[in-house]
Amino acid sequence: MNKCNLASVDMIKQLVAFDTTSRNPNMLLIEYIRDYLADLGVDSHLTFDDSGKKANLYATCGPQDKPGILLSGHTDCVPVDGQDWKTDPFHVHAQDDRLYGRGTSDMKSFIAIALAVLPEMLERGLRSPVHFAFSYDEEIGCVGVQRLIAQLEGMAVKPRACIVGEPTGMQVVTGHKGKYGARCHVHGLECHSALAPQGVNAVEIAAELVARLRKMGQHLREHGPIDDTFDPPCTTVHTGIIQGGTALNIVPKLCTFEYEIRNLPDHDVAPLMAELEDYADNVLVTEMRAISEEAGISWEPLASYPGMTADEDSEISRLAKALSGNDSSGRVSFGTEAGLFQAAGIPAVVCGPGHIAQAHKPNEFIDLDQVARGEAFVSALMAELCER
Ligand SMILES: [Zn+2]
Repeated sequence: MNKCNLASVDMIKQLVAFDTTSRNPNMLLIEYIRDYLADLGVDSHLTFDDSGKKANLYATCGPQDKPGILLSGHTDCVPVDGQDWKTDPFHVHAQDDRLYGRGTSDMKSFIAIALAVLPEMLERGLRSPVHFAFSYDEEIGCVGVQRLIAQLEGMAVKPRACIVGEPTGMQVVTGHKGKYGARCHVHGLECHSALAPQGVNAVEIAAELVARLRKMGQHLREHGPIDDTFDPPCTTVHTGIIQGGTALNIVPKLCTFEYEIRNLPDHDVAPLMAELEDYADNVLVTEMRAISEEAGISWEPLASYPGMTADEDSEISRLAKALSGNDSSGRVSFGTEAGLFQAAGIPAVVCGPGHIAQAHKPNEFIDLDQVARGEAFVSALMAELCER
């Protein structure tokens, strides 16, 4: 097992101690990082959400006039509500060569390692810059980083490539799926359930759509497209939430459900959406309107992000493989911000310490060996970019 640096472990403890569950402001953590960087002479640019209580942080370390390598991570984490934690999730607990706490794997350790190595990087003199991009609201669908990317687009000097440090066990990942999410509102007509045919049952109409989505998922599983480098190897469809009705003896007026499609990076989901909406408009709404002119179905897009496929021979794919000491690359089904960087013209790969299998769960942890491997990766990057 590799030994890791105390500075990284200390920084992991600091970052985990901020409860940056996505629903909370992340400002205290962002201000902490901003002050840490300012002490090292590095300026930060913040981009805020509408409330002004959450921010992304972008910083360039080293020469300001050259495009460098961007290290990117999200500062928010998923809720601990209802989970059976054995220790305080916001206080790192070290035991059996592991660090336990919310965000240890997903993904404060990567950010902490980058920050902990920075003083040495600056001392050794960066020939080519390292940029940092630390975002808010990734866990609710890569929402925050979009403002950071919009800001980058207006900058004279943009990063030339990006490494997103989501937990991949330090395996370089050159592809991930995209996600399209939507909320559907079915507006029916209420009446006494004894007179059911005189009403428009919103729950039943929603059920037809949910069943249609389920069939769509089955069809994709059986008929593809299939890409065996992903697990599952096809585009998947899933309904996650459904709400409707108030009492058994009332024909329900409203029903709402949320669904998502996780698509293979090159699989365009627009025709799938169009097919569902056509069925809703031409079959269901026609039926509903025969009873009530007011009845209808509306759609509300939820957070979505594109899939990502990196060129295996790009500078960043080759560099990340060399830094990780492993020449192979993998694909993952979970989404990351890499697809958005890539779409903005910044080639990206995903590689970070910890494992996704330990993320989002009670007693989330990172192995110290993963921390050490993350440090070795950033140190190798330093050797690549520094004068000494
Ligand atoms: Zn994550």
